[in-house]
Parts: sequence; structure tokens; C-alpha cells
Amino acid sequence: MLQRIHTREIGEVEMSELKAATPAILTRGSLGHLIDGKWREPASGERIDTMNPATGEVLTTLARGNADDVDRAVRSARSAFEGPWSRFTPHQRQALLNKAHDLVEEHYDELALLESLDVGVPLSRARNSKGNILRTILFFASQTMNCAGQTLPNSIGGNYTTLTLKAPVGVVGGIIPWNGPLISQWWILGGALATGCTVVMKPAEDASLTTLRTAELLLEAGLPEGVVNVVTGLGSEAGAALAEHPDVDRIAFTGSTDTGRNIIRASAGNMKRLQLELGGKSPDIVFADADLDRAVPGAAMGVFANSGQVCFAGTRVFVERKIQNEFVSRIVDFGRTLKVGDPLDPDTDLGPLISQKQLDRVSGYVSVGDEQGADLVLGGRRMLGDVANGYFIEPTIFNNVSNDMTIAREEIFGPVVSIIPFDTADEALTLANDTQYGLGGAVWSRDIGTVNTMMHGIKSGTVWVNCYGIIDPSIGFGGYKHSGYGWKGGPQHVDGFLFQKSVYINGD
Ligand code: NAP
Ligand code: MG
Repeated sequence: MLQRIHTREIGEVEMSELKAATPAILTRGSLGHLIDGKWREPASGERIDTMNPATGEVLTTLARGNADDVDRAVRSARSAFEGPWSRFTPHQRQALLNKAHDLVEEHYDELALLESLDVGVPLSRARNSKGNILRTILFFASQTMNCAGQTLPNSIGGNYTTLTLKAPVGVVGGIIPWNGPLISQWWILGGALATGCTVVMKPAEDASLTTLRTAELLLEAGLPEGVVNVVTGLGSEAGAALAEHPDVDRIAFTGSTDTGRNIIRASAGNMKRLQLELGGKSPDIVFADADLDRAVPGAAMGVFANSGQVCFAGTRVFVERKIQNEFVSRIVDFGRTLKVGDPLDPDTDLGPLISQKQLDRVSGYVSVGDEQGADLVLGGRRMLGDVANGYFIEPTIFNNVSNDMTIAREEIFGPVVSIIPFDTADEALTLANDTQYGLGGAVWSRDIGTVNTMMHGIKSGTVWVNCYGIIDPSIGFGGYKHSGYGWKGGPQHVDGFLFQKSVYINGD
């Protein structure tokens, strides 16, 4: 039994104390939408359960949002956009984001615990993400000063001055997946608040809690009511209503490629601006001259981290044939050292998958890999025993996969590595790019020529060299091909939340 303590008592405490705590948001019985600064009951009166994936137990119940709830939230976001929020200066928005940073820092242990209970991410991993999340908020605080047009030279002649102005696009619909809402929400909230937009967030039905709690903290930071609203519920109901709503100006979406296509169709009615951060099947290429002491754990955790529920997971590991046997034996040994289990245990490396549905999906792909002739060299089974009711699966490695097998083509979103041998750099590059996706990719080699060829040749939004999975907000992140469009982070991020206007001044 978890001991109930108030969240304010959760500070920088030891893991043992933290795991015995219950965030206050879970002691309220049920949760509503957060609209116009207030908790609201769902228009339909209907609710959905949200589970702890480590135990299969219900954590709390959420409001099941429908088109009426979305409409109410969009009206609140519109009136906040045109009302008090429009008078905030860039300095005031920066001060507000700095205050939000301080509150997230102060409440970070509570947020990490909530994310761990809701999503199943190991608490130690959630706590380790603190620096990244705080840096991301500070990055967006700095971007309030980057919402500027330019004074441009012209060839009109006469006495003309020509310039561009920037203005916030308006109401942003933010739709995020369940695999890491504590960080992924900030890529939308940060851009919107830096530029003066307002937001209606629709978090994933399986992982809405840290988004609701973060919205509360933003109110505490002094954000005017209605600037950030959260409507919970199903993607096919609340999500679809938000994507279609005629008064939403922009959708910032992170999720699967199939849902991305639905969003594009739904956005056509009022020509919404779109940012789509979608799926991946990223290549991770290990050459014979690589430092295997780094490449083996790097490639392994490039897939196993967060139990494989990472969009840029390097799930296709291309290994130069002359080191294939050594690499496979070492990555299998590494996989055996990973402790899968209770996310609240400080020694746990990997938690459960998010849901029974996801467990069935990943198990299905393991069977398909077997049937299509790949060699299962590690794992593959659901884990029973102490964790019988949670959605746990063993870290899984297939050897001798070919790039045309289903497990090398489709996004599994679980801890499943496909090892694909190659003989030449040209062959590795051709295979790496033979995919509908283009999100991440990596090369492990000590040869500058090999690194250079791969860095330019891999068709993806990010290439890591002798490392994997590092994301910095000031550099950014995006996708080629079916992995979506729009760039998250970097100085251009805020442009997606701004309209540009040109002005011609006749000085005569
Ligand atoms: P998903 O099924 O596409 O869901 C993403 C979000 O969209 C959820 O909030 C979902 O709500 C909602 N949704 C579902 N159907 C909708 C519709 N018709 N209209 C509007 N919204 C709808 O993706 P997921 O399975 O949760 O997440 C995993 C996927 O996200 C993977 O493909 C992964 O690669 C991708 N991802 C990409 C990035 C990136 O930066 N490129 C980052 C993280 C994850 P419900 O959950 O309530 O159905
Ligand atoms: Mg949950």
C-alpha cells in the first residue's frame, strides 16, 4: 500500500522515501478537464480509467472529452489569446517561463513519480531527465526574444523602407503520445508560450497525468486562465475534434505516422498550420573499426531505453559482417544484465510497456520475426512472476534479420533489436535508407571518411556519431519522409508558431 502524503512534502528526497509517496493529484478520486483555469466535468459525464502499467491497477479516472469539451476549451483559448495574454510583453512571457521553470524544478520529484506511476518509466530514469526538461523550458524562455521580423533591403527605388513583422498564429492544438509526456508536452507548450499563442492540449488517454499537473503549475506561475487548457479523452473523440476544430490555427502533433495522416486530412477545413513529429525505424550502423566497448551498450540502449518506446530508437542495427559474431555475443551479454521490473525500484533498468494492447502488439512482432526466419538470440517472452499483472516483456534481440522482413520495416515500439549484417559501406547506406521513415540514425566508426559518408548519406533528421539518442533543445530535431515535418528546437522552432507579414513604407 502506498502511503499518502501531500505533494508539497516531496522534495529532493531519497528514492526509498519517494517511492512510498502518492502525488496529491491521485488522491482526488477523479479528474476533470482543465479549461479556463478551472477543473471541469466532462460534457457527457463519461469517464475513462487510467492504469499503472506496472501493476495493471487503476490509478484514477479521467474525463472522457468529446467535441463539446474541445469546443469549450478552444473558446477559452481564443478569448485568452485576444484578451490579457495578448498584452504580455516578450519580457513578461520570459519571466513567466522562468517562473514555470522554477516551479517544475521545485516539484520535479513529484512529477517524476507521477510519470513513473502513469507511464511505467523507471523512476530513476524519470529523475535523470530533470536537467533535460529544465534546459528545454529555459531554452523556450530565451526564445521569447527571438520572435522578431527583419528590416530588409529592397530594389523598389524611391524612399521605401521594407520590413517583416511576426505575430503569434493564435490557438494551437497540442496532441502528444504516451511514451514521455513530461518532456514532449514542453516542445509544444514552450513554443506556444514563447510566441504568445494559446494552447489546448490533448494528452494520450494512457498517460495524461503529468500534463494535467503541469498545467496546474503554469497557473500557479501566473499564466492567465485559458492560455493553457487540457482536454483528456480518446484520440478518436477528443483528438479528432481538436484536429478538425475550425477555430484552431495550428496543430502540433507527436505520434504515429498513421494518426499523422488523419491529422492532415482533419486540418484541411480551415488550412491549419501543421507540425508533425511521427514514427521511425532508425538505422544504427556499426563498422568493424568501432570501439565496441562504447558501440555495444550504445546500440543496445539505443533500442532498450524506455523499453523501446522511443520514436528515434535505433531498431535496425547494421553490423559489419566481420565483427557480427563478436558484436552479437556482446550485445546479448549486455541485454542479460538489464534488470526489468518494478519502475519504483532504484535498480530497475527497464519498466513495462504502456498497456496490454502494446504488449500484444510487441509480442505479435516477436512471433512474426520467428516465422519469417530471423534468429531469436535473446528474450522474446512476456515476463511473469512478481510482475505478473504488469505489461512486462524481456529485452529481445533477433540476429540475421534481413531488411525486408516485417520486423525491420514496421515500427514495433518495444525492446526489440534487429541485427542486420553488411559487407560494404555502400551496402550499409543503401539498406539504412531503404525505409519509409527518416527520424534518427547513427554510425559507430573511428574512420573520418566513413563517418563523413554516413553523416551526409543517411536520410534522417538526426545523425549521431559514436553516440546515440542525444537531443539538445538549442540544436533541434525533426524528420525526413514519413517521419513528419516541422523542426522542434533550434532558433527556427518558434517560427512555426508565428505568422509573417511584410510591410512597405513609402517615406515620400
Ligand atoms: P498515436 O496512436 O498516433 O497517438 C498519439 C496521440 O494522438 C495520442 O494523444 C492519441 O490519443 C491521439 N490520436 C489518436 N487518434 C487520433 C485522431 N484520429 N485524431 C487526433 N488525435 C488522435 O501514437 P502513440 O501510439 O500514442 O505513440 C507512439 C507513436 O508516436 C510512435 O509512432 C512514435 O514513433 C511516435 N513518436 C514520435 C515522436 C517524434 O518526435 N517524432 C516522439 C514520440 C513518439 P489516444 O492515445 O488517446 O488514442
Ligand atoms: Mg497510465
